[in-house]
Parts: sequence; C-alpha cells; structure tokens
Amino acid sequence: MLGMMMQRPLLISDILTYAAEAFPTADIVSVRTEGDIHRTNYAEVRDRVGQLANALLARGIEMGDRVATLAWNGYRHFELYFAISGIGAVCHTINPRLSAEQMIYIVNHAEDKVIFVDTTFVPILEALQSHFPADLTYVIMTDRAHMPDTKLPNVLCYEELIAEQSSEIEWPLLDENTASGLCYTSGTTGHPKGALYSHRSNVLHALMISVTLKNTFGEGNRIMPVVPLFHVNAWGLPYAAPLVGASLVFPGPAMDGPSLFKLMDSEEVFSAWGVPTIWMGLLAEIDAQGRKPKGFGDVAIGGAAAPRSMIESFEKMGVSVVHAWGMTEMSPVGTHGALPGTLKDAPLKERLDFKQTQGRRLFGVELKIVDEDGNVLPCDGKAVGELYVRGNAVVSGYYNNEEATAKAMDAEGWFGTGDVATISPGGVMSIQDRAKDLIKSGGEWISSIDLENAALSHPAIANCAAIGMPHPKWDERPVLVAIPAGEERPSIEEMHAHMSEHFAKWQLPDDIIWIEELPMTATGKVSKLNLRKQLADYVLP
Ligand code: ADP
Repeated sequence: MLGMMMQRPLLISDILTYAAEAFPTADIVSVRTEGDIHRTNYAEVRDRVGQLANALLARGIEMGDRVATLAWNGYRHFELYFAISGIGAVCHTINPRLSAEQMIYIVNHAEDKVIFVDTTFVPILEALQSHFPADLTYVIMTDRAHMPDTKLPNVLCYEELIAEQSSEIEWPLLDENTASGLCYTSGTTGHPKGALYSHRSNVLHALMISVTLKNTFGEGNRIMPVVPLFHVNAWGLPYAAPLVGASLVFPGPAMDGPSLFKLMDSEEVFSAWGVPTIWMGLLAEIDAQGRKPKGFGDVAIGGAAAPRSMIESFEKMGVSVVHAWGMTEMSPVGTHGALPGTLKDAPLKERLDFKQTQGRRLFGVELKIVDEDGNVLPCDGKAVGELYVRGNAVVSGYYNNEEATAKAMDAEGWFGTGDVATISPGGVMSIQDRAKDLIKSGGEWISSIDLENAALSHPAIANCAAIGMPHPKWDERPVLVAIPAGEERPSIEEMHAHMSEHFAKWQLPDDIIWIEELPMTATGKVSKLNLRKQLADYVLP
C-alpha cells in the first residue's frame, strides 16, 4: 500500500523563495573584485535571481543546458547557483586553478553554452578561447564601469544583462531528479570526471548537514565559506545557510590569513569553512595578533585530514572544530566530527582523540570497508579497508564517462572512494590514507596522515607531507618533506625522538627533506603526485 501524500518535488528554487520570505533581511556580504565590500540580503537576492533567470531564458537557455561559472565566492556567483538551476539548466562550476588542458577538456566535455566569469579570470579564458566553440557566450561578472578591455568574442556585462529584466518569475515545477549542477574532480591522473548533482540530492544534502551541524546552522549565525563556490558547491553552504536563515560572508579573492582575519573580525563571522592550508594562514595571523577574530566560535575543516595540532589550537581558543570528510562525488559531506553528547564534558585529550577522526556519518550516507577481494570487513575499529559509500547525495556514476563509472561503482551500486579507513563499532570513521598515498614498507602499510600529524606537532615544522620513496629491499620507505616554521631544522634523529611515542621504529621516516613550498592541487591540498615528481632524483640515505 502506498502512502497518500502529495508528490511535491524537492527543488533548489524553493530554498531561496523560502529564505526570502522567512529571513528577508539576513545579510550576504561579499568582498568584490571591484575592491569594495558589498552588502545584500535574501530578499534582494531573490529579486536579482529572478532577473538573472529571465535573462537566461531570454537568451535561449533551455532545460539541461550547461551554463558555466569561473568566479570567486561572492553574491553574483551565489545568484548564478539559483538562477541557472532554477530554470532547469545546469550550473557547471569551473575551478580556475585547473590546468589549461583540464579546462579545455571540461568546457568541451560539458558543452557549455555560456561562461560567467569574474574580471580576474578573463585572461585565462582569453588564452584558451581558441579551443572553445566559436558561439560560446562570455558574461563578465561586473558592471559597465568595471568592464575590462577584452579580446573575448560574444561578451556581455552581468549587470546590464539583468538590468533590463523583470524580477518576477514563476519557477518551473521540475522533476526533482533534474540535473542542477556539474562539478569535475581535479583528477590526479587522466581527465577530470564530472559529478552531476540533482535538485533532490542538493536539497537533501542541505537538510542533512543543517540538521546535524546544529552549532553551525542557527538563524542569524554568520558563516564564511572559504571553500570555493567553484568546487563542490562550497560544501553545500549556499543551500544550507538560506534554509536556516544564516548569513553568508563571502571572502572573494582575499583568502590569505591577514585578509581573512580582518574580514572575520569586522563582520563577526561565527563559523568558517575551509581546507587545512587556509587555516594555517589564519592561525599564523591569530598568533601574530594575539587574539582570535571577534565572534569566531566554529570552524569546519575538511578536504584533507585536519592535523591534530590545528584542531588543538582552535579548541584551546574556544573555537569548536568540525572535522568533516567528503568528496566531490558526495555533494560533498559524508562524515563529520561534531562531538557526540557523551563526550561534551570529556577532558580535552579525549575530545581531541575524537575530533582527529573523520567522525560519524550523516543521515543519508552509508559506509562500508572492504578488502582487496571486495569482502566486507568488520566495523571493529581495527580492520583497514577501502571505503565505499552509498546515499541520497552520492553519485551513481560520472557524467558521460562510462569507463570511469564502471571503475568507481561496485556490483551492488556502492561508490568506491579510493580512501582507506577503519570504522569503529560506534560508526566512527578514521581515514588512514588515500589508497595511492599509503606507504608500503616490507609488506606492511604506514599511514602518511599519521606521520604528518605526529611531525606537525613539532614546533619547528610549519607544514609537511610524508611520502613513500622506492627502496630496493623494503619496496618503499617513508620520507618527510617539511616546510620549516623558523630557523630551526631538527635532524631526523630529533624527529624520531619526537614522533616515536606513536609509531613502531620501522614506521618512522628514513629522512627529512626541507623545502620552501609544497606543491598544491587545484583544490588547495598538498599534491603528493607533483611532490614525487619533484623528488624524482632523490636517493634515500
Ligand atoms: P579533489 O581532489 O578534486 O579536490 P575532492 O575534493 O573530492 O577531490 O577530494 C576528496 C578526497 O579528499 C577524499 O577522497 C579524501 O581522500 C580527501 N579528504 C577529504 N576530507 C578529508 C578529511 N577530513 N580527512 C582526510 N582526507 C580527506
């Protein structure tokens, strides 16, 4: 027997309509490429989104068309999220840090009709434009006064485009499974692969994170996505914040520690979201200023393992850490490190032990770990296996890419994450490593994340990466590549003394290599692939 309830689709347009009605004056603050700070609110954004959607329709954008963005975090990018998907088109966010080759590939693979671009990134498109279809339209995201001189063809000005349109719009009642957004993973090998989100998956993901992260998602809370709108929906913030009436503070291009501190301080940001590298910059500035930004009480760290020393620094200054794990293919949040009620009053060490893990799953996400033959391993906190996921906001395959889809999905329809993890009986997941970054020594595995965590707690180390180097006898041996925090350069023996509490002797790195800078991926993580290439001539001691 079926229930007798209405079939109303879950639609992204409803999120903004609701926010404009329930929280019209909750503000949206943006550092703009024009150089100033811009302020608006959900009611005004709803009207401009109506204008933008009408402009897209007037220019012939149809259901399913891909409309791309190449932009920083700001209110215009936020408007695009809602206008494009609201009319049934697909918002294809492009990561400006991709290589030229990757960008050419994805614009052509996605068959974008229009690209909305911030002034900053116009030169990137000028350089690549001969590889794109001749009839592609470029909309520069500024007003007439700030339009750059450009060699791009078919150019429009954002503010002019929307100025002539009505803000009235009747949003179409789409099927909730209609594609809403497209994001390509940066892909360390091979071409980037596209995750094609739906209205249903994005609305459910917003509900999933906002019911779980109750400290973050409160009405009136001021949330700053440093995670870019150009990659994985800025971790779902553009959808979850309006749902609960939280304000958004967009940092635009200024993501260095001092700029973030200044913005957070003046806007009294409560919750800030980003990858560990960003927080290294902010923590250095907090250290220099001798205080935290006003109102700062909550930080979400994800995209790569949050070092224990970083979690501890934040917790000690009264900033609660949510260590989140996820992937582009999961919309992206899968697990979160919000403290279980039983640990609320636990001593700092116990709380840190928990927060160092990737935490528990969200509602709507299932996890399993499997061995090399695909057999499910026990959730006993000991067995280590490849992590597979299933859920309401997990991809069922890659956009127009059967080969990658076949590789990623198992026979029962679970998605293989490429991460290696343990799961405790209570469902607490601990990422050991990316499968390809685990260090194999004498037939045993060593977690590079564990080595990095231990090394980073040494005050002389600002940042580091542990990688496996080829060894004739042991297969691979771990080596630590580190950026010094100051003048001090501890020897490998001193590092052993510092780290030995957590490791067996054979697990400790054979060498420490000092470096000025670590290579980064397009999403702000240490690129171990490029690091290995850089060290191709290195010989173990
Ligand atoms: P890209 O490499 O394109 O940025 P994603 O952003 O989808 O791709 O990265 C997802 C991967 O990032 C995960 O599979 C995992 O390896 C890593 N990751 C994300 N969050 C964490 C975390 N909290 N701890 C450890 N690894 C993480």
